[in-house]
Amino acid sequence: MKWIIDLAYVGVAVVFIFGLKAMSSPVTARKGIVWAGWAMIVATLVTLFWPGMQNFAWMILAIVIGGSLAWVSGKRVAMTDMPQMVAIYNGMGGGAAAAIAALEFARGEVHGTMVTILAVLGALIGSVAFSGSCIAFAKLQGIMKKAFRLPAQNQVNMALAAVTAILGLAIITADHPGMLSIGLFFILALALGAIITSPIGGADMPVVISLLNAFTGLAVGFEGYVLGNPALVVAGIVVGASGTLLTQLMAKAMNRPIKNVIFAPISGEAVEGEAIEGTMREIGALDAAATMRYASKVIIVPGYGMAVAGAQHKVWEMTQLLEEAGVEVVFAIHPVAGRMPGHMNVLLAEAGVPYDKIFDLEEINADFAQADVALIIGANDVVNPVARTDKSSPIYGMPILNADMAQNVIVVKRGKGSGYSGIENALFYKDNCRMFYGSAQQAIGEVIQHVKSMEG
Ligand code: NDP
Repeated sequence: MKWIIDLAYVGVAVVFIFGLKAMSSPVTARKGIVWAGWAMIVATLVTLFWPGMQNFAWMILAIVIGGSLAWVSGKRVAMTDMPQMVAIYNGMGGGAAAAIAALEFARGEVHGTMVTILAVLGALIGSVAFSGSCIAFAKLQGIMKKAFRLPAQNQVNMALAAVTAILGLAIITADHPGMLSIGLFFILALALGAIITSPIGGADMPVVISLLNAFTGLAVGFEGYVLGNPALVVAGIVVGASGTLLTQLMAKAMNRPIKNVIFAPISGEAVEGEAIEGTMREIGALDAAATMRYASKVIIVPGYGMAVAGAQHKVWEMTQLLEEAGVEVVFAIHPVAGRMPGHMNVLLAEAGVPYDKIFDLEEINADFAQADVALIIGANDVVNPVARTDKSSPIYGMPILNADMAQNVIVVKRGKGSGYSGIENALFYKDNCRMFYGSAQQAIGEVIQHVKSMEG
């Protein structure tokens, strides 16, 4: 029987890898998710036949409760709440890995130095991922104040990490570690995750979420080794490796070394930056429509506000109308636009925007200088020029889309609200910029009506 299970695990591992590969392109991503989902179902089912497996009723009950909750929340979640859902599910993975280690220690089932080392490492990393993800969830959900920084935060982090590591070492070297040291180790590891994540906010959130995701993968892989379960090892390695690569990409995109994210994080609280000169000037729907209708090239920059308003279908309708009128229209996507990696790509793909009209920051940034119009729809931080100029700004050094270099800039937003980082946007005060106030869906709807009524 065991060889059938092992064979199934090999098949599952191969499907996981192909699924992940398929997820790297928007054309095949949906297929990749479905493959990986089926592979996970197969891995779970065959594991029930593992030699010596007991407590079937409890396991099936847990699967039914967990599966139903996930199914219902997955169906109901709004696109704008996706990031916090990803954060909490990621935390569940880390928590599950830590729980496996806790149970194995409590049963006295961890034998051999290598296994004990990996069990302790998995427990530590899994606990940090669990509590850190819970904090990230609370912040993204707006339950928790954006930043909570202790006095001498870095020293506290280091001291806590050192004490937890010493306890971990004591567990590894002890013949029969006591429940007290095991319990204390888990409490400190959970506290470490919460305390490290609490001060992080603003533009650092995407990096920390993908870092915690990588942690979960590592923890699952280590605990897979402890349990001698190859499917868990492979799944953990796949998540850990892809999470690490994503973290590196996000950190590079934000120009924020990972050590700065942890030791000198952006808090996400409003700060006094350099004084911004100029005044905000308004534009109406008719003038906005005319500016774009008679332009040669329009670059659209979507942001979080487009997701909130669910305006992507209207945006695509407007794009098609402008194209029929001979205007070249393309989309510029910042790597951290919205609230999760790839947020804007997913929305635009859902609306039917062809992929060859969507460009990443490096591909398109030089083109803004030749564009007649940069139309910013619910984006803010990702086009804020203070990132280039104001050394005191928390987003200083973050690459931004050069929308301010277009001949005309039109910004669609509801009012004077700031972006996720809480920073004033210097772009809105520039001479070439006009504010088009309104919720994105309604505002773009008005533009569509005016464009339709315009002569060629
Ligand atoms: P921002 O959060 O900077 O700005 C969004 C803007 O949208 C606001 O200024 C708001 O202004 C406007 N808005 C809100 N609702 C609407 C609406 N219904 N219609 C029109 N406009 C609306 O968004 P960006 O996409 O520019 O930047 C993303 C930010 O989120 C970055 O700071 C990034 O670091 C952070 N982040 C990103 C994550 C990721 O993985 N991508 C994860 C976590 C955080 P107003 O209220 O005036 O309408």
